[in-house]
Amino acid sequence: MSRNNAPHTGRFAPSPTGPLHFGSLLTAVASFAQARVNAGRWLLRIEDIDPPREVSGADQLIIDALEAFGLEWDGPVIYQSRANERHADVVKSLIADRLAYKCTCSRRDLADVRRGALGAIYPGTCRAAEKDGECAIRIRTTNGETCVEDQLQGRICQRLESESGDFIIRRRDGLIAYHLAVVLDDADEGVTEVVRGIDLLDSTPRHVFLQQSLGLATPSYAHIPVALNTDGQKLSKLTGAAAVDLSRPALTLVQALAALSQDPPSDLSDGTLADVWEWTLGHWNLQAMLGERTIAADRCALEQA
Ligand code: GLU
Ligand code: ZN
Repeated sequence: MSRNNAPHTGRFAPSPTGPLHFGSLLTAVASFAQARVNAGRWLLRIEDIDPPREVSGADQLIIDALEAFGLEWDGPVIYQSRANERHADVVKSLIADRLAYKCTCSRRDLADVRRGALGAIYPGTCRAAEKDGECAIRIRTTNGETCVEDQLQGRICQRLESESGDFIIRRRDGLIAYHLAVVLDDADEGVTEVVRGIDLLDSTPRHVFLQQSLGLATPSYAHIPVALNTDGQKLSKLTGAAAVDLSRPALTLVQALAALSQDPPSDLSDGTLADVWEWTLGHWNLQAMLGERTIAADRCALEQA
């Protein structure tokens, strides 16, 4: 059950930085199955708010791939950039409430700061500065524990002030940071459950902190294991993951189910895509991935890539 009796709403939120690869297919399949077995909605949100990282046409490639796998979303495709003004207004009100502030530090100013598991730890240089000029905007963090109870990975707590420092919500180039955009959009779209890759687990306490600062509900989270390539690296655009093969969607979907520890019968891929979905929604068990952090390449469909 989702909180406040809100209708169960899941989503898939790819950045249009390249075509759908096997790793992102796993996130799409898992979030879709979770939504459908809970009689919920499943939204598709293209996170197009970081133009320097985007590849033109990637949104359409992702959409075409989802359609080829029979992954049907509810409502129109949502483009995150449509909420640019809403994001900017929230930044302004956070500054007005003194929950966020301008940071004029240059890259060089920050070159020597201490680093932790979450990256560079901002030492709070501009907290009291009231400076103007070209600046990033940072949220004022606190050092109490910020925790998330992940459905698959358990309880994760961070002391943000010492582990990340005040983190950026609007970049120096004016772009809204992913952390803020994702929190606002999930809330505005009524998302009650976030299923995504474990690479974002470390970011989740920051998301919970923003939700608490903004008076927003925290959705439930499930971070699924990440698919590794044969060199043991995360499958991603950076490691050169190939576009997922669309020529035999039933087979590839069965391979995705195996990677997601769903234990599909070996003859399932002889059936149609509709057969595979029927089996999936009849047998879906998120908890089969409990505590799993990685998926070795021999459980993935990498050879065909
Ligand atoms: N847009 C992010 C990505 O493609 C995912 C955001 C999320 O699921 O929270 O990595
Ligand atoms: Zn600063």
